[in-house]
Amino acid sequence: MSGWFVLTIVLGVPVGPMARIVMKFGGTSVADLDRIRNVARHVKRETDDGHQVAVVVSAMAGRTNELVSWTREASPLHDAREYDAVVAAGEQVSSGLLAIVLQSMGVNARSWQGWQIPIQTDNAHGAARILDIDGSDLVRRFGEGQVAVVAGFQGIGPDNRIATLGRGGSDTSAVALAAAVEADRCDIYTDVDGVYTTDPRIEPAARRLKKVAFEEMLELASLGAKVLQVRSVELAMVHKVRMFVRSSFDEPDAPGMGDLDNPPGTLICDEDEIVEQEVVTGIAYAKDEAQISLRRLADRPGVSAAIFGPLSKAHINVDMIVQNISEDGSSTDMTFTVPSGDMEKSLTVLNDAREAIGFDVVQSESGLAKISVIGIGMRSHAGVAATAFQALADKGINIKAITTSEIKISILIDGPYAELAVRTLHSVYGLDKT
Ligand code: ADP
Ligand code: ASP
Ligand code: MG
Repeated sequence: MSGWFVLTIVLGVPVGPMARIVMKFGGTSVADLDRIRNVARHVKRETDDGHQVAVVVSAMAGRTNELVSWTREASPLHDAREYDAVVAAGEQVSSGLLAIVLQSMGVNARSWQGWQIPIQTDNAHGAARILDIDGSDLVRRFGEGQVAVVAGFQGIGPDNRIATLGRGGSDTSAVALAAAVEADRCDIYTDVDGVYTTDPRIEPAARRLKKVAFEEMLELASLGAKVLQVRSVELAMVHKVRMFVRSSFDEPDAPGMGDLDNPPGTLICDEDEIVEQEVVTGIAYAKDEAQISLRRLADRPGVSAAIFGPLSKAHINVDMIVQNISEDGSSTDMTFTVPSGDMEKSLTVLNDAREAIGFDVVQSESGLAKISVIGIGMRSHAGVAATAFQALADKGINIKAITTSEIKISILIDGPYAELAVRTLHSVYGLDKT
């Protein structure tokens, strides 16, 4: 509905441009009934302003973890379709509760589960991707003044069964819905008031960013900043959804909260909307990384395929890969990282494929951390990596592996140094200064 503003000039109805807004509330924002009532006040503010609203909710804080742990307790090796049947339940509760509270406040609201919309996904139970959303019924209901409260994190697969979108997936539900109904904005309400230069729980001096480019947000999210699910940023980038990260703990009726173009929070947007681009925008970190090294591999065509093919078949997500240039022309070393939880499985896969790969020994180490420096400005600035290496050296932090791309540098270190490294890098690039 972008650019399709209507001036409402009926007496008794607020005068102003009408917009279509998707509002997403995360787990801590709907953690109990008091917080759900507060969420309802945010929703009512927008409907009172004459906007068309769809709300996407997560499960109440801690619920999804509890449901996941029950499936594991029931059987460590369980059917992914039944996992989905269980873990999607948290959002069913929170969406119904929010609809009840909204109705009690006089807002015409109705809850919707993924299958009812329907939100169609692929068959990858537990980590499904949204394929299509039919937004037509919701749009018709907007016209009748109804607020849709949609259960996040879930859809329906081609097998006609509930499918969930991977942890943190309600962000993706919200952006996909915003694209499907052509919303003017998708507001992600959470327990922080925007995207910060690094996780404010680790570095209290982190600063809130006014705008972050899609590419940077993709890197931040995929390198550990869990504030947005990676897939939600990809979808927003492709479908040009205007996405704001903002706090549900702000007073719903405080001045400026209903600002249509500039609500308080961080806008995730195209690079060219950002006038003053910093060299470094933020620091992300991911704990629980493991490193695996294969020593004295045959240096021949096909050796990488022989290693990473079986790992990929086993659904192991390999991250940093470093191969040494062969000294003698016949053998080399290969080092790569996987999530710590996948280390044992990776070692089994590699040992099973030992003959085809042809390595001498395999070494492994878990409990590592990956710290990443991210910024679009790096494309045109030299010396960013050298600054990071020197700053870590000054703190006595040893670097185990390095990977870089145009807009990021990732550094693997020992896990216990993660927080010190984040703070060190945050300060060396002046991110704590306004
Ligand atoms: P929700 O339950 O609302 O989806 P999440 O816990 O998924 O919330 O995401 C919000 C959290 O993300 C914050 O509490 C914060 O600790 C963490 N976070 C990590 N990196 C960042 C960052 N760069 N900016 C803001 N928050 C961040
Ligand atoms: N409730 C789900 C989770 O905890 C989805 C979400 O909160 O985004 O992962
Ligand atoms: Mg989240």
